[in-house]
Amino acid sequence: MNKRKAWGERVNPVVQSIPPSGIRRFFDLATETKEVISLGVGEPDFVTPWHIREACFYSLEKGYTMYTSNQGLLSLRQAIAQELYNKFGVSYNPKDEILITAGVSEGLDLAIRALISPGDEVIVPEPAYVSYAPCITLAGGRPVALFTTMEQGFCPTADQIARLITSRTKLLILSYPNNPTGAVISKKRLQEIAEVVCDADLLVISDEIYSKLTYQGEHTCTAALKGMKERTILLNGFSKAYAMTGWRIGYAAGNPDFIGAMNKIHQYTMLCAPITAQTAALEALKNGHQSMHNMVKQFNQRRQLMVNTFREMGLPCFEPGGAFYAFPEIKGTGLSSEEFALKLLTEEKVAVVPGNVFGASGEGYVRCSYAASRKDLSTALQRIAGFVKRYGLRAKTKVIYKSLVIG
Ligand code: PLP
Repeated sequence: MNKRKAWGERVNPVVQSIPPSGIRRFFDLATETKEVISLGVGEPDFVTPWHIREACFYSLEKGYTMYTSNQGLLSLRQAIAQELYNKFGVSYNPKDEILITAGVSEGLDLAIRALISPGDEVIVPEPAYVSYAPCITLAGGRPVALFTTMEQGFCPTADQIARLITSRTKLLILSYPNNPTGAVISKKRLQEIAEVVCDADLLVISDEIYSKLTYQGEHTCTAALKGMKERTILLNGFSKAYAMTGWRIGYAAGNPDFIGAMNKIHQYTMLCAPITAQTAALEALKNGHQSMHNMVKQFNQRRQLMVNTFREMGLPCFEPGGAFYAFPEIKGTGLSSEEFALKLLTEEKVAVVPGNVFGASGEGYVRCSYAASRKDLSTALQRIAGFVKRYGLRAKTKVIYKSLVIG
């Protein structure tokens, strides 16, 4: 009789080939370590504002506990359409151009699965959010990394994109403000990219999850550029802007063919987003502006503290224009990103994420989330300063990167 395969060997080889998320690995290590200060995980340290939670309680009291339509509550889709029009000047029909999803995570998976056939290539500017490449691989596609550097403001140029396009290229993923760098891309740069995208007849997924967390004003969405609405699937959600990570609620907006295709997968896999989260999201859009504004104000103060302190330590630190991450360069310590993060965790009890988990171009950096209390941030920064001093810096850099929005 043939020897039976081990259970693990029976797992789909494509799934076997995908490593678990590097962020989670550090998060788990951090939770195992006592008295650790975590700058590791990307979620606001605020609870969801009270009026949003209250709207959810009230909906439960009224007995709203059923499925909604696959696409989500029409009232929520209408509110999203209004918001997208107000913010970006782009009109979406709530009937067939908007789909409510379980967070941007689900929207991303649906969009990639709806568009990508085996062998299709997807250009992903790096450093990038950890889910993009695995979702592409799971759909049978091939992620093509585009390296960006701190010197270029962690934003791709149109030229870099053009050079990576082949006959198999189908899609480009853009995500600004960016996780992990906090980079914001300028309108001019996006327009140059849009020209290349249109010439090559590509599609774009625009992950807008941090679009409300910007500190210098400028943010343009690809869908708002001439000729780009039809080519872009816009993804957004409530996790970051309204401190609603646990609610699992987001949406996709795009042309009816793409949204319809995504809805097909959604209706067989998710059925619909939770009704309680949809009701809460509606309240967030209607009345959440002030609480979001207050949160952004606090993030901005912490952002300045982080950037200034890293620079004082002698670590070059790009000034993030959005999101809630600082991405200091640690090459001067002579440690790799992994070594830096591991030693910092064991020796100083501060958890940060090694930059290489966001792609090879993130090597030499660490991601520090400033979605932590000011007290924790100050203590963590003191500990990091002591750590950097102990290991020493090989060459003190005089370069201070002022670029906030790269043109
Ligand atoms: N996109 C980016 C760039 C993120 O950083 C995250 C979470 O960290 C997500 C998507 C996932 O968002 P959601 O909670 O809406 O699934």
